[in-house]
Amino acid sequence: PLVLGIESSCDETGVGIVRGATLLTNTVSSSMDEHVRFGGVIPEIASRAHLDAFVPTLQEALHEAGVTLDDIDAIAVTSGPGLAGALMVGVCAAKALSIATGKPLYAINHLVAHVGVGLLDSADGGAGGLGAGGRLPENLGALLVSGGHTEILRIRSITDDVEMLGSTIDDAAGEAYDKVARLLGLGYPGGPAIDKLAKQGNAKAIRFPRGLTQPKYMGTVEEPGPHRYDWSFSGLKTAVARCVEQFEARGEEVPVADIAAAFQEAVVDVITSKAVLACKENGITDLLLGGGVAANSRLRELTGQRCSSAGITLHVPPLPLCTDNGAMVAALGSQLIMAGIAPSGVAFAPDSSLPVTTVSV
Ligand code: ATP
Ligand code: MG
Ligand code: FE
Repeated sequence: PLVLGIESSCDETGVGIVRGATLLTNTVSSSMDEHVRFGGVIPEIASRAHLDAFVPTLQEALHEAGVTLDDIDAIAVTSGPGLAGALMVGVCAAKALSIATGKPLYAINHLVAHVGVGLLDSADGGAGGLGAGGRLPENLGALLVSGGHTEILRIRSITDDVEMLGSTIDDAAGEAYDKVARLLGLGYPGGPAIDKLAKQGNAKAIRFPRGLTQPKYMGTVEEPGPHRYDWSFSGLKTAVARCVEQFEARGEEVPVADIAAAFQEAVVDVITSKAVLACKENGITDLLLGGGVAANSRLRELTGQRCSSAGITLHVPPLPLCTDNGAMVAALGSQLIMAGIAPSGVAFAPDSSLPVTTVSV
């Protein structure tokens, strides 16, 4: 099927078009620049930006794919989770398109779409990450790390069996990067700045805490603790703030590069160790890495090393498919159609906290 996918859960307005498991186009307009002076995404600004960007982004996607709305077989849209106002814009646009064209509409879970994107083959030779043929590895897990999410999932079926094994209980990893960067005066978004600066620092100069790794949270394989596969990054952010204060109180220069490197090591160490543990203990043999933080050089390196030691095959889609985009929504929509799942209709409402177990509404 020829499927048009619409994404508007955060600050990216995305329209992607796929045919079956083949990517035709992935057009994204981001309002990130408008959030820079606030040091984080402002929901109201994001919603208004979606409103401005939607029609031009749609037109560009149709043009790039060389198709018209008439050619499209179905429309898919992110219905959650995400920012309520931002989701509302994409969902209303998708409903309007569905009603105007008579094409069926699929309401899609954003998190599952981050995994579904891995199934794509792209028209220009690159792939979504999981390999050719649009088939899912049998024992697949997904590690999603972005500004809004830090989650480890098990995917038995991309259309109807997705399970959350663990997640952050407070800040997302990308959010921690952004907050710590702000604290260190590195601007927004913080991830790329810290990644770069960390290369000049000594990660061992300071040791920051790895959240939820104490025995009372971890437990054992037989008797898992309450947060065996979960993360927490808010304590880490506080630890960095205290560390900076201590240098300042002593009138010493703050070793920003060392702090960046040590912070990054703490984040990446705990993300990868818990993700690999979850994979090993749940029979996961293939792991897909997704989300904007997948751009992080140290995360890629350590995930690669630890997966390889554990005998897990790591799949990393190209970055434009890791960050929020419409192609991933179209990709999952296409999978739902090929699995014979009925469309959602136009009566559903966006759900800012849609659970990952609900693949399609
Ligand atoms: P969502 O959470 O809904 O998927 P988002 O817009 O919050 O969406 P993305 O766009 O996927 O998230 O990613 C943005 C986040 O990724 C930001 O927090 C940013 O700091 C972080 N990031 C980007 N590049 C890097 C990097 N090299 N290292 C670490 N973090 C990075
Ligand atoms: Mg974003
Ligand atoms: Fe996302």
